[in-house]
Amino acid sequence: MAPACSPTNSLHVAVIGAGAAGLAAARELRRESHSVIIFERGTQVGGLWVYTPQTEPDPLSLDPNRTVVHSSVYDSLRTNLPRECMGYRDFPFVPRNDDASRDPRRYPSHREVLAYLQNFAREFNLEEMVRFETEVVCVEPEGQKWKIQSKSSDGIFKDEIFDSVVVCNGHYTEPRIAHVPGIDSWPGKQIHSHNYRVPDPFKDEVVVVIGNFASGSDISRDITGVAKEVHIASRSNPSETYQKLLGSNNLWLHSMIESARKDGSIIFQNGKVVQADTIVHCTGYKYHFPFLNTNGYITVEDNCVGPLYKHVFPPALAPTLSFIGLPWMTLQFFMFELQSKWVAAVLSGRVMLPSEDKMMEDVTAFYAKRDANKLPKRYTHKLGECQVDYLNWIADQVGAPPVEHWRAKEVHGGYLRLATQSDTFRDKWDDDHLILEAYEDFLRQKLI
Ligand code: FAD
Repeated sequence: MAPACSPTNSLHVAVIGAGAAGLAAARELRRESHSVIIFERGTQVGGLWVYTPQTEPDPLSLDPNRTVVHSSVYDSLRTNLPRECMGYRDFPFVPRNDDASRDPRRYPSHREVLAYLQNFAREFNLEEMVRFETEVVCVEPEGQKWKIQSKSSDGIFKDEIFDSVVVCNGHYTEPRIAHVPGIDSWPGKQIHSHNYRVPDPFKDEVVVVIGNFASGSDISRDITGVAKEVHIASRSNPSETYQKLLGSNNLWLHSMIESARKDGSIIFQNGKVVQADTIVHCTGYKYHFPFLNTNGYITVEDNCVGPLYKHVFPPALAPTLSFIGLPWMTLQFFMFELQSKWVAAVLSGRVMLPSEDKMMEDVTAFYAKRDANKLPKRYTHKLGECQVDYLNWIADQVGAPPVEHWRAKEVHGGYLRLATQSDTFRDKWDDDHLILEAYEDFLRQKLI
């Protein structure tokens, strides 16, 4: 059992990762007077938003010994939610009119997000806490503390002891691949969206894209510009689905794939058959903590990381081990900020967690509800409609204001637009009144 924290405890804390989650965590931990070291295996802050044209040698990223490329960002990527609601609460993501190189659009490119995160790190002097090019290779309990083994880019291993570890390693790097019957004898090429950057390699090809949510929808439209035909297979569509998508003359939506054959054909559940050159798997990612050794206490089963109290604290190892950013939700940066405030305040003893038994009861009840709703384990961390309630619950723990009216509305409306007008949602909207409300809020709080 981890030590109890007395009020205003100041701990030595390791944060793993300097992406949007790790930066928020480090900021909140330091605000609460903890001493912090951020381990970052890359060369700069920003995590996923550090675009690289480089991809992994194995296009499906199946080889466990491959050289991992962290980012899954493709060249044409623009944010999938409006910038006002995407940013951290007290450092709004607003256009920087003082710099012509910046992207002022409401749904800006990935470069603008990276620039925003770099500004955030600079504004709060966060980089001074980062040890770049230092990969955490092992985290394990050592008495009441934690031992971290890290490896620097020159190959030197180092062991250090910390009071607490906050895991912020991201979860969009380890691909999940769809199972397609017959795929082993299908002769075409396959790639996961993690290794997709630009459409050029698909010139004149017939491409099947599996998955039609954010990345699937973006990537299929990106490819239609150069490919002969693009066919999207989506398991959320009824089996008879066969539809030519508006705004393009070579893009079709299908139900899921039934099988792949050795003659190169792909058969969809709607009965359609196409001779395809490439399959692009836009089928999501897996949680992956290759460095974590908790003697089997924390497991990842069918993409459920557990046991975790409110997706953050493993009851038997709380509060000194925590995870930031696991839930799938739209308000990512905002969630990182709130979860980080909670972790920092619990570690300093300012906010108490329930007993280990009570936390376990909560986890068990949560799993029971998931099972009663017939949701597969892999949706454990998908909060969907409950995201605002979840955020408000954490805000309440740390005495922070609830999610603002305009932010909750923007997220809801933005999601609907994404789902119903996936080709135009970034450039056409009808919620200018919410933008106005957001800016009034920023001005009132003197944030801009
Ligand atoms: P990351 O940004 O992945 O950062 C993790 C960091 O940990 C990395 O820097 C990595 O190098 C480091 N690291 C990992 N393992 C180790 C180790 N062992 N040792 C040391 N360092 C390590 N969210 C939005 O809010 N808006 C969007 O529009 C949006 N679009 C997205 C588009 C795509 C294609 C994807 C995949 C995700 C998108 N997201 C979006 C979600 C996005 O992942 C989050 O917003 C956020 O950037 C994740 O931050 P993170 O810090 O959790 O992880």
